[in-house]
Amino acid sequence: MSILYDKVCLIGIGLIGSSMAHAMRQRKLAASIAIHDNDPDARAAAVELGLGDSVHDTVAAAVTDADLTVVCVPSGAVADLAPEIAKYLKPGSTLSDVGSVKQAAVRDLGPSVPDKVHFIPGHPIAGTEYSGPRAGFAELFQGRWCILTPPPGTDAKAVERLQQLWQGMGSQVELMEPGHHDQVLAITSHLPHLIAYTIVGTATGLEEETQREVIKFSASGFRDFTRIAASDPIMWRDIFLNNREAVLEMLGRFTEDLTALQRAIRWGEGEKLQDWFTRTRAIRRSIIDAKQA
Ligand code: NAP
Repeated sequence: MSILYDKVCLIGIGLIGSSMAHAMRQRKLAASIAIHDNDPDARAAAVELGLGDSVHDTVAAAVTDADLTVVCVPSGAVADLAPEIAKYLKPGSTLSDVGSVKQAAVRDLGPSVPDKVHFIPGHPIAGTEYSGPRAGFAELFQGRWCILTPPPGTDAKAVERLQQLWQGMGSQVELMEPGHHDQVLAITSHLPHLIAYTIVGTATGLEEETQREVIKFSASGFRDFTRIAASDPIMWRDIFLNNREAVLEMLGRFTEDLTALQRAIRWGEGEKLQDWFTRTRAIRRSIIDAKQA
């Protein structure tokens, strides 16, 4: 792989920022990496792990002269940070992010972006239930999709270069309109997380004796939900607050389907249940075929 950007600036060096740093270093995609995080412990970890060429306690020092700046902080922190970042963006450089809700990125970052800076929001569809700089690893994006949502009229060369960076880090890249991204993610990611949070929350509300059995026999399906429900509470709070419309729309459809299945169970409609489960099994097969399992 060849160097795509001279200086990349990462704002926020948690799971995603540190994984980008590892991947860019390992594959030599950036000549230098400058890091800013407002958490002193995260900055210390970034130095100790050798994630960047320089680690800064100010936005100004990290962003100045960067050819690519990627905002990797929790979505709730972006709006306040945007005007400060914008002050130091170099003309001709690219500003991107990794936030999970793309209309929110456009809303929070977009108004601050100076003329002559290419604004290309992004979202790697990759993650774990762990947070912070020590959770990152170079292979996080390997074989995963990254969605870019450049506004209409964005410089094609700037988009192509960012696309190459994500491909260099192992991702497949797709371009999408932000609203469409948020709808797709509402059903593929946000609703499943809400369901996991609900099931695990319901189980913890059960009486103490049953709870112990829930943990003991968790191998049967519940365990997978606990992994999802262990995801970062702040990040997921922000996702539901920011993607409210799309999540409520999908939740409405989900509730109707759940009621239909509830009726089928109540009235002993075995054929209906079997048909439903056969269709969903086929979806699992297509995910395996698409190598996204
Ligand atoms: P993370 O591990 O919690 O790391 C975020 C880092 O940003 C923390 O060190 C945090 O410090 C720092 N930070 C917070 N506010 C800041 C500010 N104003 N200025 C500078 N640094 C600040 O988060 P993450 O999991 O990498 O997620 C980052 C973004 O990626 C989020 O928008 C999320 O939606 C998106 N994303 C996450 C995943 C995933 O699975 N985790 C997947 C795809 C996309 P403190 O600890 O002091 O707050």
